[in-house]
Amino acid sequence: MSRHPTRHRPTVVEVDLEAIRHNVRRLKPAGAELMAVVKADAYGHGDVPVARAALEAGASWLGVALVEEGLALREAGISARILVLSELPRGAEAEAVRADLTPTVYTEEGVEALAREARAAGRALPVHVKLDTGMHRVGLWPPERAVELCRLVVERGLELEGLWTHFASAESDEPTTLAQLERFLRAAWAVREAGLRPRLLHAANSAATIRFPKAHLDLVRPGAAVYGLAAGPGLAEGLRPAMTLRSRVSFVKRLEAGERLSYGHRYRLGRDAWVATVPVGYADGYPRALSNRAEVLIRGRRHRVAGIVTMDQLLVDCGDDPVVPGDEVVLLGAQGSERITAEELAEHAGTIGYEIVTAISARVPREHVG
Ligand SMILES: *Cc1c(COP(=O)(O)O)cnc(C)c1O
Repeated sequence: MSRHPTRHRPTVVEVDLEAIRHNVRRLKPAGAELMAVVKADAYGHGDVPVARAALEAGASWLGVALVEEGLALREAGISARILVLSELPRGAEAEAVRADLTPTVYTEEGVEALAREARAAGRALPVHVKLDTGMHRVGLWPPERAVELCRLVVERGLELEGLWTHFASAESDEPTTLAQLERFLRAAWAVREAGLRPRLLHAANSAATIRFPKAHLDLVRPGAAVYGLAAGPGLAEGLRPAMTLRSRVSFVKRLEAGERLSYGHRYRLGRDAWVATVPVGYADGYPRALSNRAEVLIRGRRHRVAGIVTMDQLLVDCGDDPVVPGDEVVLLGAQGSERITAEELAEHAGTIGYEIVTAISARVPREHVG
């Protein structure tokens, strides 16, 4: 959580921790554990406060992409189990083990490096073996080699705690997802037949957690849905968006029809209008691609972003609404009865909500409420 001693600019990301708790409670299946994926600073929401809120609401694991992210959680005093979702970069083993991060492994060299580290540290080391069932990003391919690698894990004195995979298109492609699940379960079955008993089988990201109860297995791994983001069309139902990006009008002028705005003069007023300046720009992670497309909320009403979004500021065509400096501007989130979602902005920018929230830059302070 970045706390600026003196804050002069009114631009801030507000994160509703009660929304995080609500979403975790809603997503956690009765018969399975929940790992809150808090990589990338909890999708831009601030990883430490979000992790604490998720744990309070029933998450029992945290998932991170980087060793560095896991270490930061430990430094903040978080003692919950933390899974690193890719194999550790060679050389990171000692620090990861010292911090009690749980490694993912999918190569023989990875197993050997962890075994050396566990011996040196003189301690038992639980690991999770990751199988590639068709996403082809990281993991053991083909997954039928699971028995072989899991045997090596155990022979080297490591504890085979988990076996997992990741879906490529759970938000949109049911047959492919079920085929991935089937292939994973067959591999897991073979591992058990070989007398090895990983305690935790897991596969489900947000979309699979919501759409495929049979993919819940022993643990689900939602990220997006924890933040109230839609992991796909219609997949935010019953979830509460946690992030609000807000600022205040810094300057207002009345301009006549025909005046053109911002760099390149790419927006022309069709009528006389109040034009507001807002101190948010693409250096804050508000995409330049939203120029002339997105809307913001001022006094509970939608108004168009007018002209090119600049590095530190943008302009808003407020028509005849008498806005004044100091008026609150919501660029993402709710104001009154209106709401601008990450998915709406993503649609304008040709991307997904995930990229909108993770792009909000470190220049914008995160404030946690609830
Ligand atoms: C990011 C990630 C998740 C969470 O995905 P969402 O779509 O945000 O739910 C789960 N598992 C792995 C391996 C990931 O990389």
